[in-house]
Formats: sequence, structure tokens, C-alpha cells
Amino acid sequence: MNNKQTNNLKALLNFDKESIWHPYTSMSSPLPSYLVKDANGVHINLASGESLIDGMSSWWSVLHGYNHPTLNKALTEQASKVSHVMFGGLTHEPAITLCEKLIELTPNNLDKVFLSDSGSVAVEVAIKMALQYQHAKCHQTNADVTKTKLLTVRKGYHGDTFAAMSVCDPVTGMHQIFEKVLFKNIFAPAPNVAFDEPWDEQETHELESLFKQYHNEIAAFIIEPIVQGTGGMRFYHPNYLKKCRELCSQYDVLLIADEIATGFGRTGKLFACEWAGISPDIMCLGKTLTGGYITLAATLCSEHIANTISQGEAGCFMHGPTFMANPLACSVAVASIKLLLDNNWREQVSFIEQQFSEKLIPLAKNERVKATRVLGSIGAVECNQSVNVANIQKRFVELGVWIRPFGNLIYIIPPLIIKADEIDKLINAIATVLKEDNCFNGEND
Ligand SMILES: *Cc1c(COP(=O)(O)O)cnc(C)c1O
Repeated sequence: MNNKQTNNLKALLNFDKESIWHPYTSMSSPLPSYLVKDANGVHINLASGESLIDGMSSWWSVLHGYNHPTLNKALTEQASKVSHVMFGGLTHEPAITLCEKLIELTPNNLDKVFLSDSGSVAVEVAIKMALQYQHAKCHQTNADVTKTKLLTVRKGYHGDTFAAMSVCDPVTGMHQIFEKVLFKNIFAPAPNVAFDEPWDEQETHELESLFKQYHNEIAAFIIEPIVQGTGGMRFYHPNYLKKCRELCSQYDVLLIADEIATGFGRTGKLFACEWAGISPDIMCLGKTLTGGYITLAATLCSEHIANTISQGEAGCFMHGPTFMANPLACSVAVASIKLLLDNNWREQVSFIEQQFSEKLIPLAKNERVKATRVLGSIGAVECNQSVNVANIQKRFVELGVWIRPFGNLIYIIPPLIIKADEIDKLINAIATVLKEDNCFNGEND
């Protein structure tokens, strides 16, 4: 880079630092940001010249890599037809084709689709559906509406808007800051028996007693199926999810599966609910829905829920975002799902899983590591200490990879097209930083 380019880059980054919020970092003394020039396949290329192998899929969203010709084509062809129209009174083929596909691929009873703009909104929509459903049911019989709360498990994550936040883990979700305005929901202990551990019938006892005690107050139970992502990359036993389904049916509580992180093959099943062979009443999709191209989310529900809401007091579901069913997003989503199915995603995911099992699992031997875990295309290294984000990030960039740990977790979830030598580079970089004291905070952090 010549001097002028270097100065230009500095000016851009200075403005960014002075004036633009980045997620979960201080505005007055922010963590550094790296300026991206472009991205291609599994590579993110920085303006400063480094080319980084992407271990994050841009927060679980990129499936087929960046700058994919098929997805680009879907986007530009749609842009030349219509980029956006309102969804009130108008409809279009991209939305119709996408919803047909979603109904076909998701578990059996999910027959009605509500499209929205982001994962958090899809969760708001799911919660609102559940509340409106219970309200409409009571309205039919003139009964008092008592089912107005949500039941969930600790260590969950469902998004940053208020209803979503009210079902996030109370500790890591910082509930105390918003205590006075958050809904008061009911929390069961986090699932504890791991995915591949022997099942223990005791595991769901407390959950059962909460259902028993509070079912008259509970509209819905919400959970991330099999993988608690942001709450700690915890993979729990499929029997837990089976039991959730049983309890919800027994106590007339709707089951909301938040598949925003786990959907579209990430865990080794197309949807994580399949590990337990269950159908939820409501399912949320997001993140990978457009292969990481544009923000789009979906909330699916059963015909029974849709009909009950439609026969209720309002006569309709009370939600309608401006950019509902954006045609660009829907077109890319259709193309991404087609690629996923054509590319034999099962083989892609099991290849990554096998590579991680061979190479990432043994990092558990490192004295800084508490545990390592792999499920599908998700690999996690849980450390004994929290990471120093600024230092570890800088080292990862020097080592040619893009990995962004949080808390004491270094995890990777690469695009499905990643190759063996690229996986090696990611895992070798993790092995390297594990030996470096300045990448971690003190023992008691
Ligand atoms: C990321 C995530 C969300 C929120 O999605 P946004 O698009 O960030 O609003 C909700 N639930 C789960 C499980 C997620 O991983």
C-alpha cells in the first residue's frame, strides 16, 4: 500500500471508531474493527492486504461462501425485476416459491409462514402468535386469559429485542438493567445432560414441576433445539427436547423452536428438531436463510394456530413489517436452499464434523482448555479463562484466520464449502493462540 492509501484507510477507520456503534463494544473505547475490502469463497479480504479464512460464517449465516455466482445471479436478476414492493395487497413469486420450500422442508405440521426482517423479529412474531392464540382460544369460550407468560430454560439466547430478551438467559442477557420493563417469564434450569452422554431421567424433573405448577399461566415454551448457541455452545440430549414436546402437549402450552442458528443443516440434520423426531407448534428461522446474503427471517406455525388466531377478536395476526417478504431476500433464499440441497449438504457437514473430531477435539489436552465439543459443522473450545478479545483477534488476523471468540469460548462454524487445508489453518491458529498468555485474561476472569 502507498502512503495515500494508508492515510485513506486510517481516515475511514477513524470515522468508524468515532461515530459508528459496533455490536457489544464500548463507543468511547471500542474494540478495534478491521476494514473489509471484499470476500470470496471462504476468504475475507482486508483493505490492509490480509486474506483471512472465515471461521465464523459471519455469525452462522454464510453457507456457500461469499460472492457466490449463483446467489449473485439470483440477486441481480431479481433487482432488475423488482427489488421491493409492499406485501399488503401485493404478492410475488420469490415469496411464494420460498414459502412452498419452507413448508416442504420443515417438520410436518408447520404449514403457515410469516416472513419478517431479522431473527429477533421472527422471535417477537412467534411470541406474539402464541399470546394471540391463547387470547383467541379464551375469547371463543369467554374465559379469562391467564396464559400470558413464557417458559424457557436458562442459558438460552433468542435475540436483542424486548420480548426476545425476556427469554434470554437472565444473567448473560443482563436482565437487571431492564428489570422494570421486561416481561416476567419463568426459567427452568439449563439442559445439563450433553448430546452424547447417557440420558438421565432426573434431568427433566424440575422442568416437569414448573409445567405442573404454572401451566395455567404459560402461553408457550421457547427453546433452541439441541444447541444453545450464544449461551455457551452447549449441545444437549435429544431426549430433553422430546420431553419438552410431551410436556407442552400434555399441558396445552405451545412449543416454539428457535432454529435461527441451527436451521439448514448446521447440526447434521436439516433442522435440529429432527434429532428428537419432534414437530414444534411454531418455528423460527433466520441467519442462514439467505445463505448469509441479506437479512430475512421466517416464523412458521401450524394450521390450527393460524385458524384460531384468525377466528379471534382481531380476526388477523397483528404484525406487518414494512420490508416483509422483500423480493431480493426471498430470491436469494430460494437460490441458497436449492444450492444446499444440490450440493449434498449432508456430506459437506459430515466432512467438517469428521475433520473437527480428528483435529479440534484433541485441543482438550491443552491446559488452558476446559472442554472441546463438536456437532455437525460447529466446533467449540471452552477455555478455563476468558479471552482478551482485542489481543486474540489481532493474533488470529496475523495467523490468517477470522475467528471471534466471546467469554471463554473459541468456536468455529465455517461455510460448508471449506476444504481440509483451510480447516487445518483455522484449528492450527486456535492451537497457537492457546499457548499465548496475552490472548487471555487472568485466571479469575
Ligand atoms: C442470532 C439469533 C437470534 C437473533 O437473530 P438476529 O437476526 O440477530 O436478530 C435469535 N435466536 C437465535 C437462536 C439466534 O442464534
